[in-house]
Amino acid sequence: MGLLDSIQSVSKLATQIANPELLKQVANANEQAVELSQANLQLQMKIVELENQIRVLQAKKDLTNSLFRNGDFVFRDGDPNACCPRCWDVEQKLIHILMGKDGFQCPNCKTVYMTYMGNPGRDNQFSVPV
Ligand SMILES: [Zn+2]
Repeated sequence: MGLLDSIQSVSKLATQIANPELLKQVANANEQAVELSQANLQLQMKIVELENQIRVLQAKKDLTNSLFRNGDFVFRDGDPNACCPRCWDVEQKLIHILMGKDGFQCPNCKTVYMTYMGNPGRDNQFSVPV
């Protein structure tokens, strides 16, 4: 039997014995129980929201840990292509640099790169964490 059920049972008994003071106290207890239930529901919703935020932050941390810089570019472990360092630094977006009419260019921010290199690997002597 839950709290609200218990309060309802006591309320019935108070009515049966015709005790107005007890009935008033039970009504107050019922009101407080409803408020606590609503507060509990809000806290549960906040927990879900915070758990979702934790998942997003963990995914972002995992992504950041998979990245490194070398030369002018950002690389991701296992990805053979270079990504735009500006887009990572400014927007935390991984955008592959593509060959365009003006040379190597970021399709997002349009930065043109004079050189290009494939993923040299995290173990390369010039690779550093992002
Ligand atoms: Zn870019």
